Amino acid sequence: MSSKLDVDGIDTEIEATNLLGLSTSKLVDFFESIGEKRFRAIQVQKWIHQNGVDDFDAMSNLSKSLRQKLAQIAEIRPPKVIEQLDSADGTRKFLIEVSGNNVVETVFIPEGGRGTLCVSSQVGCSLDCSFCATGKQGFNRDLTSAEIIGQVWIAAKSYGQLDPKAERTVTNVVMMGMGEPLLNFENVVDSMNLMMDDNAYGLSKRRVTLSTSGVVPALDKLGEHTDVSLAVSLHAPNDALRNELVPINKKYPIAQLLDSATRYIAGLPDNRRKITIEYTLIDQLNDRPHHAYELAELLRDIPVKINLIPFNPFSLVEYKRVSNNALRAFQNILIKEGFTTTIRTTRGDDIDAACGQLAGSVMDRTSRSARYRQQHHLSEEPVKIISE
Ligand code: SAH
Ligand code: SF4
Repeated sequence: MSSKLDVDGIDTEIEATNLLGLSTSKLVDFFESIGEKRFRAIQVQKWIHQNGVDDFDAMSNLSKSLRQKLAQIAEIRPPKVIEQLDSADGTRKFLIEVSGNNVVETVFIPEGGRGTLCVSSQVGCSLDCSFCATGKQGFNRDLTSAEIIGQVWIAAKSYGQLDPKAERTVTNVVMMGMGEPLLNFENVVDSMNLMMDDNAYGLSKRRVTLSTSGVVPALDKLGEHTDVSLAVSLHAPNDALRNELVPINKKYPIAQLLDSATRYIAGLPDNRRKITIEYTLIDQLNDRPHHAYELAELLRDIPVKINLIPFNPFSLVEYKRVSNNALRAFQNILIKEGFTTTIRTTRGDDIDAACGQLAGSVMDRTSRSARYRQQHHLSEEPVKIISE
């Protein structure tokens, strides 16, 4: 959005700065650049993130002149919710429109006293994991920090903002929606740090989790910028199988990935934390007892807990969900081998809000889709893939 500003009698079009996505230091810099003190930035930050305010006029502890000045040069612009779907089990899915005709998904999952928000970091994903609906859409673009923290802003507001007495509140955030968060490093780090900032959402660092399929160089520098919890999407106990499922493994194989993740966890001030290993179980492919034993060997000396995820089928791939028997057997082996091993229950199935079904619609720009268009003699126009 832009606004007209009369500078010395000359009308100048200026782009308004969206304050929603600014990290604390960037917000303070912004206020200092307009001659305002740091505490003003903190007051505005609290209005935005703790009170869900998007109108400077409502900021009653600011002077009228400052409110007017801000309205001319800045804005608080969350992405637009185009649809909200409520599942019978309490799961709520937001379809969120981001610029460029794209839609991303954010899912809120209530569980006892906890409320976990599954947040997207990109429109689509370039990493093309063979079992992932988001990967099948290709990549369009990174979300801005305003679009990432905006998902928390929207969900918190829909449940009565940060009111601890509200029936449902966001207590946990997992960066497990659409996209690979480490490929959108700065915006993801800024947003996660806002989630944990006491003047914004004040979430515990143990309750904000970044999930990665293994972008090792970015993981190597993550600890310099944040101290969130870490989940690694492993899905296979050896490189041959992981190369098939998670193609980025060909570039950064398992040993490198686990080394980097171990260093990250070891560098956290809180030494009780463990790496969460995510393992999506696909029928016959990676769910056999010998896979479980191989996984136990691989992870023997690493501080991990293991989260087993039954594969969520979707129409574009032929993989099948793990059987309940194989799932139990896999879990039992890992437990006997001494690992804390949980199973992610599928939630929000009736609204397609389960993990890996986050598809949205993407104006696909990857070379993969270009190849597809060439092969099928289609036009060069981007294809719009609507969620299954
Ligand atoms: N790109 C990041 C975060 C988003 S994916 C990552 O890969 O970790 C979030 C989780 O959902 C990952 O563990 C991913 O492997 C899993 N997932 C993706 N597709 C799935 C599917 N169809 N069924 C079950 N889990 C899936
Ligand atoms: Fe991307 Fe994660 Fe899906 Fe792989 S599993 S394609 S990294 S979103």
